[in-house]
Amino acid sequence: PYDVLVVGGGPAGAAAAIYAARKGIRTGVAAERFGGQVLDTMGIENLIAVDHTQGPKLAAALDANVRANDVDVMNLQRATRLVPADEIGGLAEVQLANGASLFARTVILSTGARWRQMGVPGEEQYRNKGVAYCPHCDGPLFKGKRVAVIGGGNSGIEAAIDLAGIVAHVTVIEFADKLRADEVLQRKLRSLPNVDVVLNGQSTEVLGDGRKVTGLGYRDRASGEHRQLELDGIFVQIGLLPNTEWLADAVELSPRGEIVVDAHGRTSAHGVFAAGDATTVPYKQIVVALGAGATASLAAFDHLIRHPLP
Ligand code: FAD
Repeated sequence: PYDVLVVGGGPAGAAAAIYAARKGIRTGVAAERFGGQVLDTMGIENLIAVDHTQGPKLAAALDANVRANDVDVMNLQRATRLVPADEIGGLAEVQLANGASLFARTVILSTGARWRQMGVPGEEQYRNKGVAYCPHCDGPLFKGKRVAVIGGGNSGIEAAIDLAGIVAHVTVIEFADKLRADEVLQRKLRSLPNVDVVLNGQSTEVLGDGRKVTGLGYRDRASGEHRQLELDGIFVQIGLLPNTEWLADAVELSPRGEIVVDAHGRTSAHGVFAAGDATTVPYKQIVVALGAGATASLAAFDHLIRHPLP
């Protein structure tokens, strides 16, 4: 069995694996797609100490860094079930889609998350070409330009407030007939001169010139009319879905499906730790996931030295 088995090969999983391997203990990583969300990212400008990099380049660096350590890398392996140990210090089982099972004294869950998409024509084509999901990451690219934020929940309104300080103009598009964000955020939003809110707005199409976004088509659900906005960017803020569907019977999940962790990355199951976007950690960022992966790995090591195999 592994001493530490990491499930998920994004920044959190890579950091967890490297920290474990450096303790000289038997470490494995099983990942559906090594690199994770980083593979889908273009420019990365907020990874501290790295002036500017690209997603695929960072993913290759994570991969090389993991492989330079003594880690069993099992790429293209999807975990379908976790059975935690039934006694403290016992073995947990991770079942894979290919029918095999892996056993480990500790497991670190780092299966990340995915942004909910609008599912309209043009969204996929213009992803990273004006369609963005992360204001902390991509906001500065739209300095002085016009953008829309899709979604009037807390994350959408936080994004709009954040972006209003950088871009020329923000239009918030909310599907329902009122914003769902906390009143204090709505009040702040209303105080900003360069923000408009469209209620009852249903996005229908991302418009572009073949190279980049030029606008958004939407339907006014109250009148049924179709309208268009001229824009340079569209920030989609309609939810981040953690990849935890397979864990519902194994560890405690929050109402949003995030794995509930404490400050050490411990989950509700003994010997099972978690890190990164799949967890309740606030703020989903690469630098946060890297740190959380290291934390969970050190906590797993602590667990191992306190609970020898029965
Ligand atoms: P992920 O990167 O999501 O990795 C999850 C891993 O788990 C993957 O290997 C996946 O294949 C695997 N996995 C999932 N389910 C299973 C399963 N059942 N079995 C086995 N493996 C599984 N952050 C920044 O800091 N700066 C940026 O500029 C930035 N830009 C972004 C741009 C885009 C388009 C996106 C989508 C995100 C961006 N982010 C950015 C956010 C950042 O990518 C994430 O916060 C970070 O990747 C989270 O790392 P993670 O390891 O927790 O999860």
